[in-house]
Amino acid sequence: MDYKKHVKIVEDWPKEGIKFKDITPLMADGDAFRSAVDEIVEYAKEKEIDIVVGPEARGFIIGCPVSYALGVGFAPVRKEGKLPREVVKVNYGLEYGSNILTIHKDAIKPGQRVLITDDLLATGGTIEATIKLVEELGGIVVGCAFIIELSYLDGLEKLQGYDVLTLMSY
Ligand code: AMP
Repeated sequence: MDYKKHVKIVEDWPKEGIKFKDITPLMADGDAFRSAVDEIVEYAKEKEIDIVVGPEARGFIIGCPVSYALGVGFAPVRKEGKLPREVVKVNYGLEYGSNILTIHKDAIKPGQRVLITDDLLATGGTIEATIKLVEELGGIVVGCAFIIELSYLDGLEKLQGYDVLTLMSY
């Protein structure tokens, strides 16, 4: 599947110098979206995943259909102040700005096998923070799946030792 034809590149958004990869056209195309989700499901099938975890907001869009297809649950990672019960939190840096991510303290049980999903791997800060949250709760990260990797930002270096799937690279 040629996913790139469904990605719109927006120059200088949300800040000057950023080439934003907009995956909403990919999501809007039934065949392309299903194919992308199916590839991640295929990758995850043999990994005995107990739960899928994704950071807001586009990590939900990818992670939820994957968890549904695998027949396992989904746990959201959200910005500070969005989850209603007790959380663990971590501070992280972005390609543009910095943030605090949180997860419900009871979202993952120790020893559970976790697949992490997001739309795009840029600097790797978001996924590194998500991994920290999962591991703090005793989860085992057995895979990380992304639609897009920005290879010029070296995010994969932060994921050394983890199993990673990316569907396309810029
Ligand atoms: P990072 O933490 O630097 O790996 O950034 C990853 C997160 O920021 C992902 O959740 C993306 O949705 C978003 N992001 C960062 N850079 C871009 C970009 N150039 N185009 C689209 N989304 C981006």
